[in-house]
Amino acid sequence: MFQKILIANRGEIALRVLRACKELGIQTVVVHSTADSDAMHVRLADESVCIGPPPSRESYLNIHQIVAACEITGADAVHPGYGFLSENAKFADILAAHNITFIGPSGDHIRIMGDKIEAKRTAKRLGIPVVPGSDGAISDDKEAKRVAAEIGYPVIIKASAGGGGRGMKVAHTEADLEVALQTAKSEAGAAFGDDAVYIEKYLEKPRHIEVQVFGDGAGRGVHFGERDCSLQRRHQKVWEEANSPALNAEERSRIGDICAKAIADLGYSGAGTIEFLYENGEFYFIEMNTRLQVEHPVTEAITGIDLVHEQIRVASGAGLSVRQEDIKFNGHAIECRINAEDPRTFAPSPGTITHFHTPGGLGIRVDSGVYSGYKIPPYYDSLIGKLIVHGRNRVECMMRLRRALDEFVVDGIKTTLPLFRDLVGNPDIANGDYDIHWLEKYLAKGE
Ligand code: ADP
Repeated sequence: MFQKILIANRGEIALRVLRACKELGIQTVVVHSTADSDAMHVRLADESVCIGPPPSRESYLNIHQIVAACEITGADAVHPGYGFLSENAKFADILAAHNITFIGPSGDHIRIMGDKIEAKRTAKRLGIPVVPGSDGAISDDKEAKRVAAEIGYPVIIKASAGGGGRGMKVAHTEADLEVALQTAKSEAGAAFGDDAVYIEKYLEKPRHIEVQVFGDGAGRGVHFGERDCSLQRRHQKVWEEANSPALNAEERSRIGDICAKAIADLGYSGAGTIEFLYENGEFYFIEMNTRLQVEHPVTEAITGIDLVHEQIRVASGAGLSVRQEDIKFNGHAIECRINAEDPRTFAPSPGTITHFHTPGGLGIRVDSGVYSGYKIPPYYDSLIGKLIVHGRNRVECMMRLRRALDEFVVDGIKTTLPLFRDLVGNPDIANGDYDIHWLEKYLAKGE
């Protein structure tokens, strides 16, 4: 097992990882920017190293500084959290070259899944169902028209190097296609320095369903069930659930088994999430994230398994603590992402939190790095905490969530708490009846 882990992140996830390390008796080092000297993870860690000024590229994305911090403190492993360097293959390779363990998959696996065309090709080869579309990048308009006619309109054009929902264009007819292709290519070129695009069938009312997987790096793969993250705004997840209200037990184990087998065949190591769009009983692979996800606590709530412990175990060579048959799904969990934003306009609302009171009681978990008197720096993303609620079934979970939201107090800044108080009382949400466009439509109506 590791002696000392360096946590290369900030905010709630740095604290989340720190807690797992403490439980496992591992010493912790955190790195931080000058803007985060007062952060909770800095206060609670055994050691901390200031690695640079507030802008992320000079601190949390600064590989040299982070490697130097490992050398100075004698850390033998790095946990990257999510975001920042968590899916940076070069970072994983550099750490390996310094004999420091990256708590995540190999640089090669990160690279494959970071290229959307390569990822889709790999998924297909591994028996994962994919969205019908072009086999790789589109070379010209003629090929695009041929593929689109074959799969049927509407189609979506996506950037191979894409991310964050950028470089995507929908075409409803052949007449739309040329323009969509040109726009997608130039957007992709500008945003990612690579104008390769591919084409796929556009699904009109899908849900976003993702499967949590783990590989032990020695040919074993398991799945921890799925999460439904269909409630999104601008492709950003807002509310996540486990299990999905849309799946039955047969679909759950079918897609879970496919993913677990794929992970085993790939020889993958560590945590991963295989993301699908789901429509009319069918799953369509969209991408794989090779890291821990923001929404992992809903999976922990229904399985009772600490996924960060598992990440650390696997990276240290101790293997997974569970076999597939040990993973049981118990009840229902929902996570609300609480952002320091105006609940209507979503404009960021940094500033000082004058009072912070979190709900408690059975089935409630709050993962947050903030506290009363904490000043939110304006440099980073606006997530200030996650409320995760568990109940024996979805109805009980929703009752408890409503109560927990009433109890939650964040004064001094605007937060998205009022949005969740509205959502929890909405009949479609109560019925679990929503697709990936539901939230945007709801917000547009301004109800
Ligand atoms: P990114 O990596 O940029 O986030 P994804 O491939 O994960 O791109 O897609 C982001 C979102 O775009 C999906 O969650 C979904 O809302 C939408 N999307 C992607 N592909 C399709 C498709 N074939 N049909 C309909 N919507 C899609």
